[in-house]
Amino acid sequence: MRIAFLGLGIMGRPMASNLVKAGHEVAVWNRTARQHVDGARTAVSPAEAAKDADVVWLCVADTAAVERVVFSADGVEQSLREGMVIADSSTISPSATVKFAQRVAEKGVQWVDAPVTGSKIGAENGQLIFIVGGPTETVQSMEPLFKAMGKTVIHVGGTGKGQSAKICMNLQIAMIYEGFAEGMTLARKLGVEPQKMVELVQASMIRSGVVDYKAPFILRRDYSPNFPLRLMHKDLHLLLDTAKEARVKLPGLETVDEVYELASEEGWDDLDYAATIQLLEKWAGLHGK
Ligand code: NAP
Repeated sequence: MRIAFLGLGIMGRPMASNLVKAGHEVAVWNRTARQHVDGARTAVSPAEAAKDADVVWLCVADTAAVERVVFSADGVEQSLREGMVIADSSTISPSATVKFAQRVAEKGVQWVDAPVTGSKIGAENGQLIFIVGGPTETVQSMEPLFKAMGKTVIHVGGTGKGQSAKICMNLQIAMIYEGFAEGMTLARKLGVEPQKMVELVQASMIRSGVVDYKAPFILRRDYSPNFPLRLMHKDLHLLLDTAKEARVKLPGLETVDEVYELASEEGWDDLDYAATIQLLEKWAGLHGK
């Protein structure tokens, strides 16, 4: 298939590369031009990347970035043809997704929201899980593309439902991690070895994929970005806004958001969200020890 892949960040770059490796004809575009992908054509604009594409795949930071890439003067919209598909692996607003889908539908184009989970390692290994919203036939026709980049597709429902499920998943990731970080911090203050605490957590009923992924980083104090704090913080705001629209109260998440606000003020936006543990350690008088 001919794919235009827009957004070559931590996730987009390896995803585009896996499409090339699977034999697809790929054109790539990134806002700052320094990025390229071996075996792919580098386009000068989103519109130019999308010109001959069957599928336009997006993986950019947030709702505003998707709007810019699709609907600005040099955006994908300029190149839309009937029968094309836009697949969006960015994590963005479910309600904006529905509006974007309605707008491109006027040109006979289908919108499939396909946010992912699996982080940097999952993207690099082609082991992502796609959380998908959109028409069944279209989703099924994209099977070879999902396969090239991931291991599992969960088709949640119609347009926007992929984004809805994705943010509700990130709510739980943020809160599971926060629970882990608070437990680790108090344990350290009480003189329990961090390694022993992780051993206990992983042997018990609270074992989790979040801890599987993050514990090795925490233990060696490596906060290089796999999922940057600024993006998890963006998702917390997406969740709080979406919950407000749906008239749902999320008191736990509101508190976690305060931790992220303070971590952001510390200048840690470009570190992994796991770096929020440093704030707890600072408050506990453990930072730097
Ligand atoms: P990233 O490394 O920060 O990359 C973000 C990408 O978006 C870059 O290509 C960036 O371009 C582009 N971008 C940002 N603002 C833009 C704008 N206004 N116009 C056009 N392009 C813009 O982020 P990532 O980790 O790849 O994440 C991408 C998406 O996947 C996000 O929605 C994130 O929430 C989601 N996600 C991430 C993970 C993860 O673990 N990293 C996991 C699941 C989902 P520049 O290079 O020019 O800045």
